[in-house]
Amino acid sequence: MDTKSYKEKLLEKLYAPYRHCTACPLGQLGRKNIVFGEGAPNAKLLFIGEGPGREEDILGRPFVGRSGKLLDKILEVAGLERSDVFIANVVKCRPPGNRKPTPIESRTCKKLLLLKQIKIIRPQLICTLGSSALEALIEQKVAITRMRGTILQHENLTILPTYHPAYILRNRTELETFANDIKKARDFLKSTTT
Ligand code: URA
Repeated sequence: MDTKSYKEKLLEKLYAPYRHCTACPLGQLGRKNIVFGEGAPNAKLLFIGEGPGREEDILGRPFVGRSGKLLDKILEVAGLERSDVFIANVVKCRPPGNRKPTPIESRTCKKLLLLKQIKIIRPQLICTLGSSALEALIEQKVAITRMRGTILQHENLTILPTYHPAYILRNRTELETFANDIKKARDFLKSTTT
């Protein structure tokens, strides 16, 4: 019996033409795996990071390295299951040396994949991790310390920006703020659930 959900099939159909994508320079800069994203296709909460790192590139899964372990821990603290949310990145291929994706790379991958993923998943809330993900989504320069923790509306998207877990690993004093932002996401979803 085919137990795949409609949205899961739509996501697979979306990814199929991009399994060997070379639409932007990252396709030819030594990536091992394309990290499309993972989680519940019907998730109410979608996390968006910047792009895969070394471990993610090797395993083909998002947020599985040190940043991912921290994200998992904070999800647990907030009473959220990783399997209930969806986790993706702006760019699906690892930028060499973990450099920031260029505007061309972000824009290309956003248009070909990220926006289509959002359209299929239709999350109630998008939690962007770090300035780069928020900037890619709203196409504006941001100061993440000022923007984080406040829910904003952009076109038809509801976004809660927060820090990137890698930043928290370097700035442990912001751990509680980060955890509170994720709890805010949880509470927002609770308040919208009928
Ligand atoms: N950092 C990101 O932005 N995304 C990942 O998947 C891992 C680390």
